[in-house]
Amino acid sequence: MIMDMHLHTNYSDGKNSILEMARCAFELGYKRICFTDHVRSTTSWLSEYEKELDACRKKFQGKLIIGKGIESKVIDWKGNLDLPADIQKEKWRIVAAIHRIPDGKGEFISRNMVNANNIAIIRKAWEYSVLGLALNPSVDCLAHPTNWYVMWKDSAEFEGIIRTILKKQENLQLEYNVKYDNSLLSHKFWSEYKGRICMASDSHSVQEMADRYYKIKKAGLFIQ
Ligand SMILES: [Zn+2]
Ligand SMILES: [Zn+2]
Repeated sequence: MIMDMHLHTNYSDGKNSILEMARCAFELGYKRICFTDHVRSTTSWLSEYEKELDACRKKFQGKLIIGKGIESKVIDWKGNLDLPADIQKEKWRIVAAIHRIPDGKGEFISRNMVNANNIAIIRKAWEYSVLGLALNPSVDCLAHPTNWYVMWKDSAEFEGIIRTILKKQENLQLEYNVKYDNSLLSHKFWSEYKGRICMASDSHSVQEMADRYYKIKKAGLFIQ
C-alpha cells in the first residue's frame, strides 16, 4: 500500500491546510497518510487540530486512510519528548525525532559543535538519546533516523545502534524518510525490517508532496 506517514500542515511549519494536503495525497494516489505536525510542551492547538483532522477523515472516508499524529523532539536520554503535559498519548501516533542532540544534562549540543574533534562524544550522546526511547513505550516511530547523516557517514556503528533500539522496543517503527539520505542503512537492513518501516516524505506543502512522490514510490519497491 502506498503511504506517507509524515506530513506537516499550517498548524506547525507547513504551508498548506490539512484539507489541501489530504486532497493532494488522494490525487497522487496515496491510500494512507498520517499528519504529524510539530508539537512542543507549549503547544495549545491540539484539540482544534484533532477536530479538523476528524472532519477531514470523514470527508475522505473509504478513499484515504488518515492518521492523527504529532512529531516531537527527544529532549533527554530517558525517552522523554517535548510534549504538552496534558496530551492524551493513546490518541496520537507519536513520532520522535532527534532534531537536536540532548547532552544528557538537560541541554542540547549545538549543531556547530559537531566536528572531527568531538565527534566520538557527540555520536555517543546521539546513541544514548536513541536508546533512551526504549524507556518510552508511547513512542510509535523514530523519525528520519538518518538526519544526522553528516555525523555518521564514515561510521559502521550506525546500523548497529538502530538495530539495537528496534530490538529493545519491539513496537517501535522506523521511517524511511525520503527527505534525507537513507544510504546509512543498507538495502539488506531496509528489506529485513520492512514490516516496521514507514514511508515518509516529511512534506511541508502540496508542492513538496508532489515532488517527493516518485521517491516514495521508488523506495516502496524494495521496502513494501
Ligand atoms: Zn523532523
Ligand atoms: Zn517533520
